[in-house]
Amino acid sequence: MAQLIDGRKWAAVSRAETAQSVAMLVQKGITPGLAVILVGDNPASESYVRGKEKAAREVGITSQLIRLPVETTETELLHWIDLLNRDPLCHGILVQLPLPDHIAAERVIEAISPAKDVDGFHTQNIGALSVGLPAIVPCTPLGVMKLLAYESVPIAGAHAVIIGRSNIVGKPMASLLLAQSATVTICHSKTHDLASITRQADILVAAVGRPKMVTGDMIKPGAVVIDVGINRTDEGLVGDVDFASASTVAAAITPVPRGVGPMTIAMLLHNTVTAALRT
Ligand code: NAD
Repeated sequence: MAQLIDGRKWAAVSRAETAQSVAMLVQKGITPGLAVILVGDNPASESYVRGKEKAAREVGITSQLIRLPVETTETELLHWIDLLNRDPLCHGILVQLPLPDHIAAERVIEAISPAKDVDGFHTQNIGALSVGLPAIVPCTPLGVMKLLAYESVPIAGAHAVIIGRSNIVGKPMASLLLAQSATVTICHSKTHDLASITRQADILVAAVGRPKMVTGDMIKPGAVVIDVGINRTDEGLVGDVDFASASTVAAAITPVPRGVGPMTIAMLLHNTVTAALRT
């Protein structure tokens, strides 16, 4: 039976580390500040934003939530970002996605100062990450790397297979694993014979958004399996990995919930402090 990688436990460890950094900054007269912008009233976004705000407050980060109505124009939203870019008390800006259809998320993300882009989605941060320069790294893949580090999973020389090539998870995940000398394969919706590739993985990261698509027979015995997927189904939240069959084959596995999810929020706090440290 696979060992469970307890994301909730490791997120608490990470948050305690962040709280110490916040205390040091406060002593120097800097209180890290996070601004979260929520446009519209998507219920899932509401709950994510509330979780992020609460977690920020608990480590001593000042957090302000800017709620804007669904009919907010792109120009109005860009105006808010401009104000926050120039606000010295605000070190991190997060625009909760998805945005309403009439607003272009790419233009909004590009308007955020890269130094305050605590989601790590700005092309300047993505570019810096891919060439190995200091960057603010997207929270979910950064959280996965933290989990692997906390669990002392060897990365150099390991074959890491990532399923999913999104800009917010799959691609930065690949950059981070490559930077630590893994041999990286990225699979996606057009990949032929997915199982023959996933069965070669020492580290398998699933970031697709399809409930239980990775089954035990797709996993190499002894692999470390990281399930990024969050799927709302009739049986509640499930990951992209079929936990029941996968956990009989893998050496270690993250559950859903209480796996990668809590680490994502912990890394948002970490990124906010990193941004404040650089001011
Ligand atoms: P996305 O929709 O942007 O990307 C999904 C990727 O999966 C695409 O690159 C696509 O090519 C690939 N894909 C689709 N069908 C496939 C198939 N049959 N075989 C192989 N690859 C296939 O999604 P995303 O934003 O990267 O998110 C992925 C999942 O991770 C979602 O369930 C999302 O909710 C979850 N997520 C979780 C966290 C967290 O904090 N745990 C954070 C972000 C995203």
